[in-house]
Amino acid sequence: MARYIFVTGGVVSSLGKGLSSASLAYLLQSRGFKVRIRKLDPYLNVDPGTMSPFQHGEVFVTDDGAETDLDLGHYERFSGISAKKSDNITTGRIYNDVLKKERKGKYLGKTVQVIPHITDRIKEFIKDDVAKEDFVICEIGGTIGDIESLPFAEAIRQFSNDVGKKNTMFIHLTLVPYMKASDEIKTKPTQHSVKELRSIGIQPDIIICRSERPIPYEQRKKISLFCNVDIKNVIETVDVKTIYEAPISFYNEKLDKQVLDYFKIKSKKNVNLNPWKKITKNVLNTKRSVNIAIIGKYVNLKDAYKSLDEALTHGGIANNIKVKLIRIESDKLKVSEIKKKLKDISGVLIPGGFGKRGTEGKIAAISYARKNKIPFLGICFGMQMAIIEFARNQLNIKNATSSEFGSRGTPIVGLITEWNKDGVIIKGTNKELGGTMRLGLYEARLKENSLIKKIYSSKFIKERHRHRYEVNINYKDKFEKKGMIFSALSPDKKLPEIIELKNHPWFVGVQFHPEFKSRPLAPHPLFSSFIKAAKNHR
Ligand code: GLN
Repeated sequence: MARYIFVTGGVVSSLGKGLSSASLAYLLQSRGFKVRIRKLDPYLNVDPGTMSPFQHGEVFVTDDGAETDLDLGHYERFSGISAKKSDNITTGRIYNDVLKKERKGKYLGKTVQVIPHITDRIKEFIKDDVAKEDFVICEIGGTIGDIESLPFAEAIRQFSNDVGKKNTMFIHLTLVPYMKASDEIKTKPTQHSVKELRSIGIQPDIIICRSERPIPYEQRKKISLFCNVDIKNVIETVDVKTIYEAPISFYNEKLDKQVLDYFKIKSKKNVNLNPWKKITKNVLNTKRSVNIAIIGKYVNLKDAYKSLDEALTHGGIANNIKVKLIRIESDKLKVSEIKKKLKDISGVLIPGGFGKRGTEGKIAAISYARKNKIPFLGICFGMQMAIIEFARNQLNIKNATSSEFGSRGTPIVGLITEWNKDGVIIKGTNKELGGTMRLGLYEARLKENSLIKKIYSSKFIKERHRHRYEVNINYKDKFEKKGMIFSALSPDKKLPEIIELKNHPWFVGVQFHPEFKSRPLAPHPLFSSFIKAAKNHR
């Protein structure tokens, strides 16, 4: 039977619950156990798919096509385990399920209530599809004390009662601030947060204390005493220089050991920290750097392109070079300024995006990269913009556009309403926005003698998609005659998946999101190759 580890957060948000859970998953896995990580989010959206990056950062897409919280990206990158649809649930999803059931009369006339109906549904989700796991780590989004997260807190309390305390553990993450004026580390916020947790019936078994500086023994003892937790289970996490140090730091603090001791389970293997040590050393010691421009709508938001930022760093790790991201806001990019802005740039990247705003700047930047032979990577929307640029300037279709921007012009990129997935026709729509795009893993077949085939060293690939519009295949010959090759197609040959330029050192557009599959211990070949090309550019 799986053991369940629930991770809650207190005092403030953004304490790094995701990174702590992901690091713990790595350590347990490295000790020979099978681990799954899940996220329970307290907001009312059914999934984050319709949320703006301004609200929620990146939407992370899984192999099976779920639009999920970006923490699932952390989980995948650290644990190497591909997340599934069933690994992220929101209050909205839970209510949606319960209300659908109610409309069908499945509650047999009963009054439908938060307890037990909502909490029961949450509990079903927690234990769904985990028969083969040794550990299930469940992170509860939000902060203990919020009204929104109460049903989740209640559900995990009940869950522990249902499956037994010896099969469940509660880890609570809090902030232990340092007060400069008194030169002291303060434990009171932690005490209050644990009090709040205990008021809803949860006694934490481990407290992870996030702190700017090491926590002296006296303060740990105080936390142990007031919060009723063994001092060995008061674990500090001091800010690390790079996130790749996190698994090392938690190992040094014996987090995984304390978890195993709690469950009275013996480790199957020794933890292997060498890959993280190697990466940390590489990231901290590499001096040479390469400038990559990311031109997008949300570049100034820290988490809006989380997986992309990470994948580029992985590309740097693969090439022993630091990747400096130069973020250019597409809305503000004036065509006249492009030359100046891209002066010291060795690679241009246009990420995924939605809507017309800022597209003219992007198209002009692509034009500049194409003509000046600067390595270019266009991802999803970025590939669509590269197609429009080429159509306008090389095929002389001056009004080339995407039907995403309205009905005017020639739609080289257009809405498709049905497509083939492994022989089954799937219907899309733009009437309802949530979960209706072409989502998740789709296969692409790569052209012989193409750059892309060399990069992947494979004939077939499967990559994650998240888009509604497609490049119109009917233009293929026209583009190829002018030197833009459609170097990968869907298996039914109807959908262009990758484009590249013949007379350019490195110009690639992909209709999917390779960044979701890149991991620090296994950098994605596209990013490694892109950074290599950028490194060779100057
Ligand atoms: N807006 C474009 C589409 O829906 C691109 C989406 C994206 O970049 N993820 O097709």
